[in-house]
Amino acid sequence: MYCEEFSKHNFPIRNAYNPCFLYKRMEKQLKLSPSSLNVFLDCPRCFWNQFNGKKRPSGIFPSLPNGIDNILKHYFEHFRKKGIVPPEIEELGAKMYVGPEMKDWQSNFRGIQWTDSKTGVMLRGAVDEMLIKEGKLIVLDFKTRGFPLKDDTHEHYRNQLDTYNFLLKKNNRKVENYGYLLFYHPKQACKGKKCYIEFNTDLVKMKANPSQAEKVFRDAVACLRGKEPKAKDGCEWCTYSQ
Ligand code: SF4
Repeated sequence: MYCEEFSKHNFPIRNAYNPCFLYKRMEKQLKLSPSSLNVFLDCPRCFWNQFNGKKRPSGIFPSLPNGIDNILKHYFEHFRKKGIVPPEIEELGAKMYVGPEMKDWQSNFRGIQWTDSKTGVMLRGAVDEMLIKEGKLIVLDFKTRGFPLKDDTHEHYRNQLDTYNFLLKKNNRKVENYGYLLFYHPKQACKGKKCYIEFNTDLVKMKANPSQAEKVFRDAVACLRGKEPKAKDGCEWCTYSQ
């Protein structure tokens, strides 16, 4: 309101004495990501608090999965440069996507981005890998685990894949209506007297639902614009956050 009033007086926009300009500089664009939306899905109150100065206490996060993710990115990049795919995804009949956008799309600071014109809120997400088949993009995400998969392990990542699919569509990309999770988990192997650690892989195909991603995004934005939601029952962190 104040900015609207001020603009009537024709002050130059980028004038340091223009309080509207200073206000705009202070006003940061709200940015959401698949991980912040996961917090919203887990507990709207905790999500609301994260954007209102109270961070959810984080436990000790093992660095191993991050380290392996980086190694995997280099491993896949090696195949991309050669124009072939790693053996664990050969069965898909897809190619590695080689577009110049890959660097941005894989960057945690940029990712695939879209800004909602209705609310001005940005949604962005960085992908691990992108494949292409018959002219359509296919998202591939690596997951590292200590143990073999359970029947529902992949369900924890549904919102993430839906969001990537939604973002690609919003960027006018042709994208398949599914994506893949590639799970790596260690196993011990011995040959003769030598024992070493190998990684098993499991490839899981998941249908993507971009409409659901949009609904989660809009519900999350509405949550941030409302009052602090109620705590969920029996939460291990709530003693810290209240
Ligand atoms: S119940 Fe409280 S601490 Fe637990 S997730 Fe929700 S807001 Fe965070």
